[in-house]
Amino acid sequence: MFKKILVANRGEIALRIQRACREMGIKAVMVYSEADRDAKYVKLADEAVCIGPAPSPLSYLNMPALISAAEVTDSEAIHPGYGFLAENADFAERVEQSGFQFIGPTAESIRIMGDKVSAKQAMIKAGVPCVPGSEGELPDDPAHIRRIAKSIGYPVIVKAAGGGGGRGMRVVHTEAALVNAVQMTKAEAQVAFGNPAVYMEKFLQNPRHIEIQILADKHKNAVYLGERDCSMQRRHQKVIEEAPAPGIPRRLIEKVGERCVTACKKIGYRGAGTFEFLYENGEFYFIEMNTRVQVEHPVTELITGVDIVKTQIMVAADEKLPFTQRQINAQMRGHAIECRINAEDPFKFIPSPGRVTMWHMPGGPGVRVDSHVYNNYFVPPNYDSMIGKLIVYGDTREQAMARMRTALSEVVIEGIKTNVPLHQELMVDAGFAEGGTNIHYLEHWLEQRK
Ligand code: ADP
Repeated sequence: MFKKILVANRGEIALRIQRACREMGIKAVMVYSEADRDAKYVKLADEAVCIGPAPSPLSYLNMPALISAAEVTDSEAIHPGYGFLAENADFAERVEQSGFQFIGPTAESIRIMGDKVSAKQAMIKAGVPCVPGSEGELPDDPAHIRRIAKSIGYPVIVKAAGGGGGRGMRVVHTEAALVNAVQMTKAEAQVAFGNPAVYMEKFLQNPRHIEIQILADKHKNAVYLGERDCSMQRRHQKVIEEAPAPGIPRRLIEKVGERCVTACKKIGYRGAGTFEFLYENGEFYFIEMNTRVQVEHPVTELITGVDIVKTQIMVAADEKLPFTQRQINAQMRGHAIECRINAEDPFKFIPSPGRVTMWHMPGGPGVRVDSHVYNNYFVPPNYDSMIGKLIVYGDTREQAMARMRTALSEVVIEGIKTNVPLHQELMVDAGFAEGGTNIHYLEHWLEQRK
């Protein structure tokens, strides 16, 4: 096992990885920008290295600074967390060329999955069901584009191959609007992602977002850890996640889960990963794969009893997965819900960074808080607005919701605005209580609330 790991990230996930390292007896080297020098995990660190000024291109996205930090501290491996460089194939490559183990898949896997056209092609080959659409990148010829759209059937969605973060997509309802929409998406994709390639899919009207968590080792073993329902979204950003997904027959989850495991084995995938699907009318449609640990991983940890971050580290150190699919299936129980706590106005969504003058978090049975914030912490304006996650577990979904309501009522955060009031309203909403809402539900709900 590694003796020392460099954590190339910030915020709650940096603390989460530090905790996993502590438990495993591994020293964690923390990095920080000038804006994060007072972070809790920096104060708690065995070793910490300043990697640059506040703007992320100069710090958390600064590959030479991160690799030098690993060199000067004699770290053996680098955990990228999520966001920043976690899905940057060039970074994974440079980490390994510099003699460190990248705690994640190979650069090649990241590269295939980072391009949505090649990801879809790999999935079709591996037998994972995908949204019907163009086979590969769209051609230039307008007549050819029109033929493809006609065969898929309107409405269609034009998506950038290099897209991410909910950007670079356009829904098209009529043939008259098609060619112009393709050209505009191409131009935007070139500017935003440096890659003009676009592809086309059937636009599903009211799907749910269901994803499958997988873990794979370097010895051809892979398992899926059930699913998460992440349909509560605003602007394609997840707000609440839960596991398992309400109302989906287990045999359907097992079928798609097994397909994901087979795909992992076929592409030689290693580490943690997530297959994201849209789910509509009893069918799953693959949209993309995330090749890293996700924000919402704790809901899966609570229902499976598996520590995903520790397992990432174990498999990076060449160990075998310490469980089989059968064991996972047997130990899966209960229900977990996660509310992302953002420093923002709860209904206008304007970011609200600044000093937290009071921070009091809930506790009690089945309550977990993943956050790096403490009393008098200053939330820097430079990064993502998520400042923590409140996660609850219950024997049933009803119990988990009741625990979340109680937990939210105990939260005290002063000095900045947060979206806790939004979560409090959603936890008593009849639609959420029923379960199985689609990806448009929250936006419609917010529209009606005005
Ligand atoms: P990103 O990498 O930018 O997150 P995704 O491919 O994961 O892009 O899509 C993000 C979101 O866009 C999905 O969660 C869904 O809400 C919507 N979306 C993407 N493809 C489709 C589709 N074919 N039909 C309907 N909605 C879609």
